[in-house]
Amino acid sequence: MASDLSSFVIGRARPAEPAVRIDDTTLRDGEQTAGVVFSNHEKIRIAKLLDEVGVHQIEVGIPAMGGDEKASIKQIVDLGLDTSILAWNRAVIGDIQDSLDCGVDSVAISMSASDIHIEHKLAKSRQWVLDQIRECVAFAKDKDLYVSVNAEDASRSDLEFLLRFCRAAKEEGADRLRFCDTLGILDPFDTFNVISFLKKEGGLDIEMHTHDDFGMATANALAGIKAGATYVNTTVNGLGERAGNAALEEVVMALKYLGKVDVGLDTSRFRELSEYVAAASARTIPAWKSIVGTNVFAHESGIHADGVIKNPLNYEAFAPEDVGLERQIVVGKHSGTRTIYRKFQEFGLELTQEDCAGVLALVRQTAVELKRALFDKELMYIYQDYLGRLGDAVPMGDHAGEAAAAAEATGGAAAPAAPRGAGTAAGSAGKPA
Ligand SMILES: [Zn+2]
Repeated sequence: MASDLSSFVIGRARPAEPAVRIDDTTLRDGEQTAGVVFSNHEKIRIAKLLDEVGVHQIEVGIPAMGGDEKASIKQIVDLGLDTSILAWNRAVIGDIQDSLDCGVDSVAISMSASDIHIEHKLAKSRQWVLDQIRECVAFAKDKDLYVSVNAEDASRSDLEFLLRFCRAAKEEGADRLRFCDTLGILDPFDTFNVISFLKKEGGLDIEMHTHDDFGMATANALAGIKAGATYVNTTVNGLGERAGNAALEEVVMALKYLGKVDVGLDTSRFRELSEYVAAASARTIPAWKSIVGTNVFAHESGIHADGVIKNPLNYEAFAPEDVGLERQIVVGKHSGTRTIYRKFQEFGLELTQEDCAGVLALVRQTAVELKRALFDKELMYIYQDYLGRLGDAVPMGDHAGEAAAAAEATGGAAAPAAPRGAGTAAGSAGKPA
């Protein structure tokens, strides 16, 4: 019997051949975010979390930086994680040698593909670029490394040259081409077209690396996947240079629910992962952040709250448990009587329709005065106030008092409180005493 039950234990569902693989670069592009520094123990914790969640490959950093960076990469390699460990390199043999010293199984070899970079950053020629790629890819493949050739600034490159770039890499045995929209200047339609072309003509697996300068990192990553890319470079919370990269949680959940592609990650730990990276990067998660923000499952307006109470599918695209969040019915200016009824029912009080209307009027007045949603304890004070106005005040210790205690017990704290103390859904500060 026990052995039968074991089949119900949900393990790390990592499909052997997922249609799309996640290569997370929180530890490389994420840490390149201006002002973000991870300590070595934070890097190790993030790598472990990414592995536990089931990410297929982790871009751990840049061994050529030497010192601590190299030491932390070695430590991550020594963890013996299930995920592939990829190190970032310039197209320089010495960089790849540093990666080999760390024991990684994969390397990204990065080279500019656009004329603007070739002329104004490298001061070299297109031929030099192709020669460097050939030399470095051949070197890395000779050492049995998995090789991603990163076409930096690919979105501004000449398409015919990008194809030559891709073919040169392929001829030397590269495993994939990373298409970098380095400046985040593409839209999903252009992305779809260029990736369709490269996929058809280039003959290499393609990875999407997108930036959010125009708010389209996730959309562009998805457009690339729709056009045939099979890898996607993400960061937790969308960290990354300037406006950031495509967010891991957004890409995975959009693939799952909009693209019907399950990459096999344990998404129920996304909020936990986001919170850890937010703390390590000193970047708070906005309440309204897609997928993992606490407001994603907070409902206040009467029509929405009532609809969600009747059936969550009325106003939620997926269940909060799917990403490790909790649903919240927030009581405030936009609440309706049904929310009031349900809220007080939680406290063990059955209010009449008339009571609900009376309490709601006071709730709205208070929420406007305070410019925020209300805490459970405040709701109980309002209820006592309401009873007092009716000339029917019930002293604390009687049933209203018990209900106040219940209000404390049901989360205490707070009607609009966010799960795990990550700020409040309504963006209000502080907690009731
Ligand atoms: Zn980047």
